[in-house]
Amino acid sequence: MQTIRTLTLVLLSAGTCLAQATAPSTAAPPTKTTPPTQKNVRFSPDMLDKAVQPCDDFYTYACGRWKEQNPIPADRSSWGRFNELGERGEYILKDILEKTSAANAHRTPIEQKIGDYYGSCMDEAAIEAQSLKPLQEDLESIARVKALEDLPAEVARLHREGVNVLFAPGSGPDYKDASRMIAQVGQGGMGLPERDYYFRKDEKSEDLRKQYSAHVQKMFELLGDAPEKAAEEAKSVLAVETSLASGALNVVKRRTPENIYHKMTRAELAALGPDFAWEKYFTDTEVPAFNSLNVSEPDFVKNMNGLLKSVSLADWKTYFRWHVVHADATVLPKKFADENFEFFSKTLQGTKEQPPRWKRCVRATNGDLGEAVGQKYVEVTFGAEGKERTLKMVNTIEAELRDDIKTLPWMTEVTKNRALEKLAAITNRIGYPDKWRDYTKFKVVRGDAFGNSQRANVFEFAREMRKVGQPVDKGEWPYPPPTVNASYNPLQNNITFPAGILQPPFYDKLADDAMNFGGIGAVVGHELTHGFDDQGRQFDLDGNLNDWWKPADAEEFKKRTKCVVDEYSGFTAVDDLKVNGELTLGENVADNGGMRVAYMALLQTLAGKDPAPIDGLTAQQRFFLGWANVWCQNRTDAVSRLAAQTDPHSPGKFRVNGTVSNMPEFQEAFHCKADAPMVRKDACRVW
Ligand SMILES: [Zn+2]
Repeated sequence: MQTIRTLTLVLLSAGTCLAQATAPSTAAPPTKTTPPTQKNVRFSPDMLDKAVQPCDDFYTYACGRWKEQNPIPADRSSWGRFNELGERGEYILKDILEKTSAANAHRTPIEQKIGDYYGSCMDEAAIEAQSLKPLQEDLESIARVKALEDLPAEVARLHREGVNVLFAPGSGPDYKDASRMIAQVGQGGMGLPERDYYFRKDEKSEDLRKQYSAHVQKMFELLGDAPEKAAEEAKSVLAVETSLASGALNVVKRRTPENIYHKMTRAELAALGPDFAWEKYFTDTEVPAFNSLNVSEPDFVKNMNGLLKSVSLADWKTYFRWHVVHADATVLPKKFADENFEFFSKTLQGTKEQPPRWKRCVRATNGDLGEAVGQKYVEVTFGAEGKERTLKMVNTIEAELRDDIKTLPWMTEVTKNRALEKLAAITNRIGYPDKWRDYTKFKVVRGDAFGNSQRANVFEFAREMRKVGQPVDKGEWPYPPPTVNASYNPLQNNITFPAGILQPPFYDKLADDAMNFGGIGAVVGHELTHGFDDQGRQFDLDGNLNDWWKPADAEEFKKRTKCVVDEYSGFTAVDDLKVNGELTLGENVADNGGMRVAYMALLQTLAGKDPAPIDGLTAQQRFFLGWANVWCQNRTDAVSRLAAQTDPHSPGKFRVNGTVSNMPEFQEAFHCKADAPMVRKDACRVW
């Protein structure tokens, strides 16, 4: 269950785009064949569009030229500063993986695993030669299902292999006792990005479902089914998934912690879903003994239970076959990977070309062996010095947030003191984990891409399930170190800054303080503020879901966040689609709070001194440019649409304009007139 708040979202790894139907068919620039250098990811005044006034549209002023000069490469659905860094990282990993994939008797066990995983993925000839053989065991097992009673064992088998059917099992901290891991059963089993994709009635949504259905049909045809039969099968799959989705919560409802926390005993779960043999399922998944679990969406389980009998066994089996071939598409012969790309990257996200094989294999290796690849990455890129500098920055920003809370005009002392206690309890994790994940039990076999991928899923599933009943491991990281992102985890009350983000343009040792405070400083402020956004504030200093607010302060908080909801709801994401102010509330609060404390920290650091302007820009102006700079991005319309419907982050343009227009400090730095577009009359302020 996703509870971690990140700085930015990595969209579906098999990114796609909206087809020619909506986008004019201009040729995309070719896929890049050389990595961006550190020099060209730095801020430069050449990025500025000086034809635009900063007080009219700060984002276009700051990013206009960059946007013109950086069209989306053909193998991407968006291109921004995050992607530039990501791409640089991929070239570094490519180098590591190419070296380790060369057969060599002196490789360490870690090098053998990552090298052979990558090498097998690159061996397209072996994958073609295997054809559909690797799928046979799965398909035969599904064919052997003869009665409803056989489902729990089959679902357990598929879940262990990472196939997303029926519901989502897992483990996670108990919201009310966040020091312990408990078992979880949540909604799942849907192939489209989000619940509401099954029900929207507008033309674009109807069309997308048609294209999804056509894709499912093609995958069945590739499995060898006749077109007419495959069309019928696709219809059944859509019907099953739509029925499952009807009991699910959408992304906005899932933002409220109470909506996804329902602790119950095994007997209560059995009463909720009596037609599924849960005991058999738990035995087969080898989850350690437990008494109670979090059934995050009870209505989903109740609805699913009804479907077990109302959907025919034949339809269930068809649905399982689809999800098996879908889950394995990228390690099957080219025609499967290509068809998967057609829908999930091209149609859904607007990507024009498949990324080159090496990029797909770097991502797959990093996905399945992230902390093994990450160890090598950190050796190459990140020194102790980086960790120290970042820690210093975190401490400075934290001190400012402390002062900010102390001087808040709208909060009473009691709540303030509790907020300060919570802030003091936040722990920092920087660069890479203290303890690396142990992959000893994950066997990587050279020449067996399919098997490696499947064994990775089995390894990961077992690793997740083994946590049930254990204390929470606060040393575990949510993503590998090369990741260009950062996060706050409300259930652990900690922040994480992987090595991937601790580099230009976020942190640049050659840049001035103003630029760095606007970049990594505001990111640190953003993550700390997540502890106090609409979700984070509901968890206490130990990570427990526990209301520590005086009711009057909570009311005032809601009044202030309503201002933010209304502000961002007024922004247009793409075409007729507005930004969803409720979905993006937590991130917008974090952006606004983060910018404010980072700005205060800069003023502290400057200590009244007024550094000489650089490139004609004052320190104050460069601070705001530092922030805008990291959000320069181009996106396909398809991705803008997908993000507006699923991503809790606002588009880059509004992460910049939405924030600066709430800050009198911005108005002052750029001498904006009171009626300028970047000066909001009813400016919002929470933190
Ligand atoms: Zn965030």
